[in-house]
Amino acid sequence: MNYKYIIVGAGLAGAVSARTLAEKGHKVMVIERSDHIAGHCHDYKNDAGITTHTYGPHIFHTKNKEIWNWVKQYADFIYFQHRVLSYANGQLLPFPINRDTISQLFGVELTINEVEEFLKHEVEISTFNEPPKNFRDAVVAQVGETLYTTFFENYTKKQWERDPSELSAELAKRIPVRTNRDDRYFADQYQGIPSKGYTSMVGEMLNHENISIMLNTDYFKVKDSFSPSMTIYTGELDAFFDYQFGKLEYRSLRLEFKTLDTKEYQQAAVVNYPNDYDWTRITEFKKLSGEKSDKTTLCFEFPKATGEPYYIVPDEKNTEMRKKYMELVENLEKEGKFLFIGRLAEYTYYNMDQVIEAALNKIASIDCV
Ligand code: FAD
Ligand code: UDP
Repeated sequence: MNYKYIIVGAGLAGAVSARTLAEKGHKVMVIERSDHIAGHCHDYKNDAGITTHTYGPHIFHTKNKEIWNWVKQYADFIYFQHRVLSYANGQLLPFPINRDTISQLFGVELTINEVEEFLKHEVEISTFNEPPKNFRDAVVAQVGETLYTTFFENYTKKQWERDPSELSAELAKRIPVRTNRDDRYFADQYQGIPSKGYTSMVGEMLNHENISIMLNTDYFKVKDSFSPSMTIYTGELDAFFDYQFGKLEYRSLRLEFKTLDTKEYQQAAVVNYPNDYDWTRITEFKKLSGEKSDKTTLCFEFPKATGEPYYIVPDEKNTEMRKKYMELVENLEKEGKFLFIGRLAEYTYYNMDQVIEAALNKIASIDCV
């Protein structure tokens, strides 16, 4: 079959790459192993008429105006600002930690300056490596051991099934600490939920006369029937190289979906459970979409080691192994026959906007005009 470009994966990385190449006039074949497009941001309307995120809650957010404008070509957005509560010490507290979290947890009213003083004192009486060597150090260095234990330690153990001191300090950068009253999960200037859902948004990206799609097809089983000029790979990094340096770990989730005969279940779209129960968080989807229904659909997330790859694991062993695979990637990319893009293919803890940016940049870097 004669396609100049083969794209492995119909998730965001694959769809953005396909669209960009198609618009330059190239015929593109997208090969997807599962039975649907949109990869991990797939969603669907369930029987109760509620848009449900197949692989857990997805909120689009970006600081990058170009990415925001690019993505808005394919979807209208509900301008949603994500707010999360954390169930700790028997209370629902705003999270990430901000002035109100501290006031409510300790029963004190503090000014911004007093919050800064409070955190400084908490850090001073705590023990950690300076500069931070790992996730625990990076959090304790900002908020001290008491707040670390209340909000981070057990959530992180549940999520990653390892001690927080074994995880990268980088991971802590995902969660801000604020001394003001901003209780949004993300501080990015542009945030929202596509009004018709992510599957529709990705469908619009792929809806181009130069793009063909094969679902239910594993690239490794069919690759010999194609002879493209270039293959853009968005699947698991280690699988591409037949695990020659060993298996990279991916963290998975068991998601339990429940639809209840009640209009509302919880006070926020997402409630985190750092210390209680075995799930990490509960999402109430209608609070993301604003959909009206007499029912409500929930998603409980139970982290697990095996299954569908949801997360990369940011620890030392995997970071070292990734480095070796990425050297092979660099060499292959230099030869000009392959590009590796996305969360699985670059083994990088990307958000959706970062995947889009990586795809646009990488495709722009090749000589395909
Ligand atoms: P994927 O979506 O994984 O797409 C890769 C595709 O390649 C898949 O469809 C896969 O089936 C296919 N594939 C793999 N191997 C093969 C093969 N051999 N042959 C054919 N096809 C193959 N991001 C945000 O910005 N905001 C959020 O709120 C957010 N929440 C998240 C919550 C959870 C629980 C998870 C797991 C992720 C979340 N993300 C969020 C991250 C977001 O899902 C990813 O950044 C994004 O979807 C990754 O896109 P991708 O194309 O790189 O990878
Ligand atoms: N985290 C935590 N407590 C929380 C929320 C997050 O300890 O209430 C830690 C945990 O290690 C988690 C990481 O911060 O894996 C990143 O959180 P984020 O909400 O960004 O995770 P994601 O939405 O990608 O699952």
